[in-house]
Amino acid sequence: MVNLEKINNLAQNLYLEHIELPSIFLGEGVINEITNYVKLKEFKHITFVVDNNTYKAAGERIKSNVINEGIKAHVVVLTDNEHQQVIADEQTLVELFTKTPKNTDVYIAVGAGTIHDITRFCAYYMKLPFISVPTASSVDGFTSKGAPVILKGVKKTLQTSSPLAVFADTHILARSPKELTAAGFGDIIAKYTSLLDWKISAWIGNEPYNQQAAEITKDALLLCVDHREEIESCSSYGLEILMRALIESGLVMLLLDYSRPASGAEHHLSHYWEMSLLKDDKKQLLHGAKVGVASTIIIDEYKNKLATKSVDSFIGTTLEKQLTQHWGEIKTLLDDLPSAAEVAKMLSFVHGPSTVEELGLEKQLVLESLQQAHTLRERCTGLFLLNTLSNHDNRMLGYEL
Ligand SMILES: [Zn+2]
Repeated sequence: MVNLEKINNLAQNLYLEHIELPSIFLGEGVINEITNYVKLKEFKHITFVVDNNTYKAAGERIKSNVINEGIKAHVVVLTDNEHQQVIADEQTLVELFTKTPKNTDVYIAVGAGTIHDITRFCAYYMKLPFISVPTASSVDGFTSKGAPVILKGVKKTLQTSSPLAVFADTHILARSPKELTAAGFGDIIAKYTSLLDWKISAWIGNEPYNQQAAEITKDALLLCVDHREEIESCSSYGLEILMRALIESGLVMLLLDYSRPASGAEHHLSHYWEMSLLKDDKKQLLHGAKVGVASTIIIDEYKNKLATKSVDSFIGTTLEKQLTQHWGEIKTLLDDLPSAAEVAKMLSFVHGPSTVEELGLEKQLVLESLQQAHTLRERCTGLFLLNTLSNHDNRMLGYEL
């Protein structure tokens, strides 16, 4: 089960005692409890948000359960694009706005990350609550407020609403496509670098840091690493472990109201790739698949280019003072990271992609992202340090930047 004690402790320490955390139902058969929950909350008109697959996987059954109890149900099957993918862009957001009946009093999102992002966005602007029913353990965003949406071709993450409750049925999760489970594992594996980058941002960028939040996220990471065999076999228990880790990571982001512990340079690379695929009208890749591979690339860069620096190389740079002061600690964390090969092996073990070739990305795009992705968000990361130091070296050598 989700460790709510740790989450509640964090909430208390952040002086958020009165925050309404989503109710979490995780285990086999929990979707059968939705009807009672809806009745308890006195919802009378539900709008289900699904795609064709998730309707079959869970939506249809939940709908018939609630209808049997006299509750009205309306289903919006979101339209996919020419790549058979549902995208959280203006067209789909407007589709859900316009297809939502006026008397709706709650949304139920049945699906993976994108269906949740579309629902949370519309729920927020329609001032309606929503219930989350993940059909795959594919991302850590189910419980967070952040809705990554594509507006005028540019990806933006807006803070919208978190679900009232999450019903994660391991029986359904265990039947989801293996690539989605591997993506969820990739989103968790990415915490190796995101947690390190968060610490770097506190030391070098003076950004806020919370030890307890970092520990909860690290525990979620190690839990999945230790149970990767159960996750690989897609057993009900393995899927429960993975979903528990994803939910805990998401709840930490919800409490902090920012995503730093769960998103560092590896997420910036992934966003950069995503924008490029969008611009070229190509098929989108799974978020977790991208960030998993991106974390192996970032580890390689950090171990081979950052950890090998000497304190002398910081002299005269804009970050000289902070880097000299914290270099010993940063170096220890860099050395403690598992190798890129070890992380790639874990990704392959759960049947996920572990190389950019497997993702089908051009080498040129990856090189470009390593030089540019840190500019996407104003966040201090190891990648930001690497680029700042190499820009300094180039300037010293007389190159125009
Ligand atoms: Zn992520």
